[in-house]
Parts: sequence; C-alpha cells; structure tokens
Amino acid sequence: MVFDKEESVSLVPLHSKGKPRLCAGCNRRIRERFMLQALDRYWHEDCLKCACCDCRLGELGSTLFTKANLILCRRDYLRLFGTTGNCAACGKIIPALEMVMRARDNVYHLDCFACQLCSQRFYMGDMFFLKNNKILCQQDYEEGHRNGNSEMPTR
Ligand SMILES: [Zn+2]
Ligand SMILES: [Zn+2]
Ligand SMILES: [Zn+2]
Ligand SMILES: [Zn+2]
Repeated sequence: MVFDKEESVSLVPLHSKGKPRLCAGCNRRIRERFMLQALDRYWHEDCLKCACCDCRLGELGSTLFTKANLILCRRDYLRLFGTTGNCAACGKIIPALEMVMRARDNVYHLDCFACQLCSQRFYMGDMFFLKNNKILCQQDYEEGHRNGNSEMPTR
C-alpha cells in the first residue's frame, strides 16, 4: 500500500529556556509542559486533530497521515484513501474497511465471492474450494476433480 505521507507524532517536553513555540494549529504560544511535534511543527495536544473525526492525534500516539492539506488519523485515511487490495475475482480495487471475503491470500468483494463456474453465492458455513485460484462450490469442485482424474468422463 502506498501512503501519501505518513508522519510520526511525538510528545516532546517544552524547554523552559528555549524560545517560545507557537502552535501550528491555533498560532498561540504553547505553555504546557508537553507539546506535540509533527510535520516539523509544534502543536498543543488539543490542536493536532484529525480533520475528519476530530480525534486527538497525540493520544493515538503514533502516526498521522497527510493528504493535500488534510491531516487525518490512520482510520480515516484508510477509510477515505486506502485499499485492501484487488479483488481476486473481478480484479478491481477494494477500498479499505469495506467488508471483504478472504480465501487463503485472496480477497474478494462480498458480491464477487461466488462460485466462478455456476455463480452460486456462499453463505456463512458453506463449503467452498480454491482451485487454480478460482473459487468453486463443492459441486463444481468435485465435478472438476472427477473429470480431471479420469481420461474418459463418465458423463
Ligand atoms: Zn494550539
Ligand atoms: Zn479521524
Ligand atoms: Zn470484485
Ligand atoms: Zn458452482
């Protein structure tokens, strides 16, 4: 996955001697004992927030993402711009956080997760098989097995 920009956020102590730091969020002087350092700037702990959900990025501790002029938490970044991968059935990109079905290393759109021969959909608890990287229902799998194993098909 390619991130536009992932930046680390760190909590740093304010040195009482050094020159006063201005918060990049509200432009006011930082007087707290600790401030956040991110994107080469300093922030009040309350001022470094996700543009989307307003969560305080300092509390999440680790990283933030930038996209254009937005500062986003990881969750929102992934929701808006991330991807889970390509659907093994239709080949299209699956947006991150969309519900997916997984089979071994493959991911599928929910709508694409069906037998690739007869299009039967699978539901929780149904048997499915992966053969040549195609999903098959039990019936088609067993049929393919029979045909593949005998030189003279019995049907
Ligand atoms: Zn501030
Ligand atoms: Zn957020
Ligand atoms: Zn798909
Ligand atoms: Zn089938």
